[in-house]
Amino acid sequence: MPTDAPMIACEEAVARVYEYLDGELDAEWSERVRYHVEVCRKCYPYFNFERIFLDHVRSQHIAPEHSDRLERRIREALRNEDAASA
Ligand SMILES: [Zn+2]
Repeated sequence: MPTDAPMIACEEAVARVYEYLDGELDAEWSERVRYHVEVCRKCYPYFNFERIFLDHVRSQHIAPEHSDRLERRIREALRNEDAASA
């Protein structure tokens, strides 16, 4: 990571989460977001959640009306994971 790259704000990273996960950001922004998530403990769980959530929705062709239940399930799984590693 080049040291002259400015650290972006959490809001900037979060605002681009879907574009980032979809690979729609240009190389510069994609790198900024990736770096932010890597070093920001606050954003990491959020991005991790969104990534798992999107993966599930896509791989299982889940209808939007069923995604609430899935979202809860993933949140619980992540919470358990946190508890286990604490
Ligand atoms: Zn952050």
